[in-house]
Amino acid sequence: MVRVRFAPSPTGLLHIGNARMAVYNWLFARRHNGIFILRIEDTDIARSEKKHMVQLMDDLHWLGLAWQEGPDAGGQYGPYVQSERLQIYHDICQKFLKEGLAYRCYCTLEELEERRQIAKLTGKPPRYDNRCRNLTDKQIKAFETSGLNFVIRFKVPEELLVFEDLIRGVCQFDLSLFGDFVIMRSDGTPSFHFAVAVDDTMMKITHVIRGEDHLSNTPCHIVLFHALGQKPPQFAHLSLTMGADRTLLSKRHGAFSLSEYRKLGYLPEAILNYMMLLGWAPRDKKEKFRADDIVDTFEIGTMSKAPSVFDQQKLDWLSGQYLREAEIERLVDLAIPYLQAAGFISADEYAIDRTKLKLIVDAVRNNISCMSQIAQETNIFFRDVVVSEKHIEFLTSEITQSVLLSFYNELCKTHVLSSEIFKNILKAVQEETKVNGKGLYLPIRVALTGREHGLEMYNIALILGIDTCKKRIERFLLIRK
Ligand code: GLU
Repeated sequence: MVRVRFAPSPTGLLHIGNARMAVYNWLFARRHNGIFILRIEDTDIARSEKKHMVQLMDDLHWLGLAWQEGPDAGGQYGPYVQSERLQIYHDICQKFLKEGLAYRCYCTLEELEERRQIAKLTGKPPRYDNRCRNLTDKQIKAFETSGLNFVIRFKVPEELLVFEDLIRGVCQFDLSLFGDFVIMRSDGTPSFHFAVAVDDTMMKITHVIRGEDHLSNTPCHIVLFHALGQKPPQFAHLSLTMGADRTLLSKRHGAFSLSEYRKLGYLPEAILNYMMLLGWAPRDKKEKFRADDIVDTFEIGTMSKAPSVFDQQKLDWLSGQYLREAEIERLVDLAIPYLQAAGFISADEYAIDRTKLKLIVDAVRNNISCMSQIAQETNIFFRDVVVSEKHIEFLTSEITQSVLLSFYNELCKTHVLSSEIFKNILKAVQEETKVNGKGLYLPIRVALTGREHGLEMYNIALILGIDTCKKRIERFLLIRK
């Protein structure tokens, strides 16, 4: 049975690059009818916060990911939060000490730093020199009585380590360059390497799918798996994602967090689709697809080795596609908070005219890529239109006036509007004024909306209604017939 895990550290908002690792683990589990596990790696006490853990779980749920085991889901290999597993790490560490696989190291930070500097100057690798590995009983006793703090280090075998990565192929590491690494800090918390290897072993993880930035950590994990008497899982190190500035996406790119996209009103299915396109493409090269469409054919080995570049324009394009096909009632629900925040509609839910809102949202959905843009696009329906000096000048020219007047007169003859009637009105204006194309549309659009571009004219007129349209035109008529 395939068992994979996503193991974020709750030190901030989950950015797209990191959430992408969750997506591929989830997809892989679905592809192989396996189990997807969420594990919270919060042993860095200074930087980890509960609120980040709550937020990231909420954001992943929003994205549509579901895990079968995790802090909230439970499971037989829990707890799934590392800070609740300290006793487990402690016990295994003691076992390692007893078996001679690990030892106490009393070197101080200052000593380590000094040796690092010397290694640097003499062109040696900056690894720990394994000095405390072979302390005599007498030396140990002396350190113990002096009350020095100690860490626990793992004895790394000096050998060539080879493993096959599902994406990167054969990887080789010379362990003699590594030095004995810390598995338990002096404050009794486990190191990242130790906690990962212990948990992956105990949670029976079969495949570790994570970012390429962890490739150089993998040898440390593999030697620990061996010490734990466990065959290492298979590894798949995914290439990372860069921002437009060609630096790796990180928490610095605050705007790229899942929470931020959610706040902006992107649909989760669009974000999920876009994330599945970062570093992978389905065989048919289609760009718009849902997880269900590709899950049966997804092969992790076909993922790109090269970094992907986050392309906001492409995401916006994709997001627009999903907005166009989404259930209108769902979009209305999503739109309401933004319209309320803009002060366009009251906070009283009974005061909301859903029929009108539906028309508005339906008209606007073609022109936006996320729901927060709705306020900007729809203010013409809720507020008086402000027309610039330049536009006033344009609207007062002779030819423009003839179009506006003719349009106004046609509106006066009508009591209802439909797409057909609107088309006929424009035809009549065209025949009367002999103006067509842009010369015909632009004066009407500018008078009604104060803008030169935007929604379909017919939609604007229909939503505004005949009376409002007349009023907005009337203000610019210099002569009335
Ligand atoms: N906690 C690590 C991170 O957030 C992930 C470790 C792993 O996947 O092995 O980068």
